[in-house]
Amino acid sequence: MNEPLSKEEVDRLMQIKGNVRGAVFQTHAAYIRQKHGEKGLEAVEKRLRELGYPIKFNEVDPLNWYSEAHTILVILVAKELFNWDDSDVFDMGNTAPKYSFIVKLLMKYFLSPRKTFEMTPKYWEKHYDFGKLEIGQFNEKEKYMSVRIKGYKTHPIVCIFHRGYFLRICQYVIKSKDITMEETKCVFRGDPYHEYVARWK
Ligand SMILES: [Zn+2]
Repeated sequence: MNEPLSKEEVDRLMQIKGNVRGAVFQTHAAYIRQKHGEKGLEAVEKRLRELGYPIKFNEVDPLNWYSEAHTILVILVAKELFNWDDSDVFDMGNTAPKYSFIVKLLMKYFLSPRKTFEMTPKYWEKHYDFGKLEIGQFNEKEKYMSVRIKGYKTHPIVCIFHRGYFLRICQYVIKSKDITMEETKCVFRGDPYHEYVARWK
């Protein structure tokens, strides 16, 4: 069983500044509902209330700004309640773009892998009011690409979520069944930013 979240840990997380679109709450809710049903989602809302940071998923406005830490707390609570391990968090991230209307909106730009790659910093700006995503290498010949996230230090669980998320975007645009996504640098391992590298065959 996963350790229950401590109030201290949660309060510390919730002090982290930075906002994200409400759409992220909806995406998280959709995943939890799909995996654990309406009852599962209610259990998450109940636990968030207990911890002192309630949210009503149905009342979230997808275009408003909300605390990023609060959306991370949703993942942590689900991990606690449903006894998730890292692979569940990865799957949550990997599934998230399927529910995101922002991704759907941007789908029209998903013309080529390179175009999508060049769009990602704008995509970050649409989601977050802090940090930035920078594009690194895009090498079609050698079949790899990299992105970096700077000015973003919240909670290491998000690194796993993002790895799944970025892999999905690649799965949408790269015509390969064999794509891997690794986090090669991470601020929680002493690096100055997070770096994700995708490779495909
Ligand atoms: Zn990281």
